[in-house]
Amino acid sequence: MSDIQLPIAFESQMISILGKEEFDKFKAAVNQSPRTSIRLNPGKRFTPSWPISPIPWTENGFFLEERPSFTLDPAFQAGAYYVQEASSMFIEHVLKSLQIPKGIYLDLAAAPGGKSTLLSTYLGDEGIVIANEVIQSRAQILKENAIKWGLGNIIVTNNDPDHFEPLEGFFDLVLVDAPCSGEGMFRKDPQAREEWSPDHVLLCSSRQKRIMDKAGALVKGGGYLIYSTCTFNEQENEEMIQFLTEEFAFEPVQIPLDPSWNIIESKVETPDGTFFGYRFFPHKVEGEGFFITILKRPDSASTQEPGKIKDFKHPVLKSINEREEIAFDSELGFEGKGKYYSLNDSIFRIDQQFFRHFERIALHLSLRYFGVELGKKQKNDWIPSHEWALSTLPKNGFASFEVDLAQALDFLRKNDQEIPDLPIGWVLMTYQNLPLGWVKNLGNRLNNYYPKEWRIRM
Ligand code: SAM
Repeated sequence: MSDIQLPIAFESQMISILGKEEFDKFKAAVNQSPRTSIRLNPGKRFTPSWPISPIPWTENGFFLEERPSFTLDPAFQAGAYYVQEASSMFIEHVLKSLQIPKGIYLDLAAAPGGKSTLLSTYLGDEGIVIANEVIQSRAQILKENAIKWGLGNIIVTNNDPDHFEPLEGFFDLVLVDAPCSGEGMFRKDPQAREEWSPDHVLLCSSRQKRIMDKAGALVKGGGYLIYSTCTFNEQENEEMIQFLTEEFAFEPVQIPLDPSWNIIESKVETPDGTFFGYRFFPHKVEGEGFFITILKRPDSASTQEPGKIKDFKHPVLKSINEREEIAFDSELGFEGKGKYYSLNDSIFRIDQQFFRHFERIALHLSLRYFGVELGKKQKNDWIPSHEWALSTLPKNGFASFEVDLAQALDFLRKNDQEIPDLPIGWVLMTYQNLPLGWVKNLGNRLNNYYPKEWRIRM
């Protein structure tokens, strides 16, 4: 591989951060191929067949020795793991080591969903993640990844950060993985190298300030704000910590580190004390360039409880009465109580504990997905949805059928299939016991219900 050409002004910037000798090591690392890594979905039982090695700061993340074709792996399509670079998975360590309280989390710049799915795993059934993406086409990808992850605790919205203003003081944790100049992605992403310039850094920094000026106010008293970028310069990192502490009351939080990880702690002096940032350089860690900081809102900061919405009136979403909800839960064999809504004839379920928060969100934001879409109820039958197939909710009352790799790929490609011994009626197709989707076996014909737009074209 010939040497990657780095912008000259970027080289000078990095020499001023690292010194010349270390910069040479940095440049050598930028010229190496990035390592492929995955984060397993503990909600879905799966053991990879490839050789893997652990990523030190996470329980669920692993390096792979080679990059397989993920598209052609049915376990990937089933949401058994997410392909994510290792440094980003450090958020798992932040949450666990600081024992960040669970509750209502917001991922304000969420697509394609790497960090939202990580938050979803951390929360399990003790919280919900509002995964928001401002760009419509990217919100669609985010929705697909939330569906594949399948835990039913993600609400996908498609809004500008400004639209969150009525929800100030509402969230236990706000994560902003900001759009940035992408210096840490230079070895993976030639476009990031081409777009980079000192002016672009300034542009990114002022956009980040606009976003953070809204985001800071969304954290409730005692809650946390995580800000991260995949870039090295100080304007988009340390200066943002300065900005946040000037605009809002925040308390510093230090993240415990194992020295062997080689993550570099940076101290930011402010009138409110010393704040901390953490930088991942590719010549020091096995991961891409990354920066992260966490700040705590004082307990006295203003907090907004969801309150009771007497009659939930929404232009398209209708809540289902309690008697029917209890009937659904027992009919479908779900553990824990569900709150049900109908949208375009389809029935959705979210955990009862969070319905007030959900209704507040639904009244203010543009929803793209929430909880688990179960499907349509027709007389005494369910027409089950693909979203339910991929969710970790039980599918009692439906037959399932374990397929081999060739059959799984035929199913995912929506090829015509003949499968001997398949039960009649709705059948959940599974591969290595991971649900892939539904077929309806009519006896003389097999209807494949895998969504057309998800079909594998390889
Ligand atoms: N957190 C994501 C993940 O881990 O998969 C990656 C997020 S990416 C670094 C930043 C996101 O911010 C992009 O999806 C981008 O579309 C979005 N974005 C761009 N401009 C924005 C703005 N003005 N406000 C909020 N988000 C913005």
